[in-house]
Amino acid sequence: MYSYIALGSNLNDRHKHIEDAVTHIKQLPHTEFVALSPLYETEPVGFTEQGLFINAVCCINTALSPYNLLQRLLLIEQMLGRVRTIKNGPRTIDLDIILYGDINIDTPTLTIPHPRMHEREFVMKPLNDVLRTQPRVA
Ligand code: ADP
Ligand code: MG
Repeated sequence: MYSYIALGSNLNDRHKHIEDAVTHIKQLPHTEFVALSPLYETEPVGFTEQGLFINAVCCINTALSPYNLLQRLLLIEQMLGRVRTIKNGPRTIDLDIILYGDINIDTPTLTIPHPRMHEREFVMKPLNDVLRTQPRVA
C-alpha cells in the first residue's frame, strides 16, 4: 500500500534528524522507499515560541499494517532522541502517517488521513510535491 509520511524537526541539527529518519524509513521491512519531497523551512504552528521547522513528506510502498507502521515510526522517533514535552512543542523528529492507501482509521492511537493535514501548509506543500512526481494514491 502506498503511504505518505510527514517528517518534521525543529531542534538541534534539523537536517540531520530528517536525513537520519529517512535512513531508518528506508530500512523498514517489507517496504520500498518511493520518493522524498524537498525540505522546507516553516514557521511553528500552535506553540509559536519555538524555532523554525524543517518539514518534508516521503512516500513508501509498504506491506506493513498501519498500526505496525505507526509503532515502527514511534520507535524511530525514540531512537533519534524524541522527548515528548508540551503539545506541539519542540521536537528532534516528528513522524506522522498522513495517508495509507485510501484507508480511513479513527481510533484513539491512530487517525488516518491525518486530521489536521489540510490546514497545514507544511504538510500539504511537500505532499503535493511528492504526489506530482509519484501520482499513485493506493
Ligand atoms: P503530534 O504529531 O500531533 O504533534 P505526537 O507526535 O506527540 O503528536 O503523537 C502523539 C500520538 O499521536 C502518537 O503516539 C500516535 O498514537 C497518535 N497518532 C494518531 N494518528 C496518528 C498518525 N496519523 N500518525 C502518527 N501518529 C498518530
Ligand atoms: Mg506525531
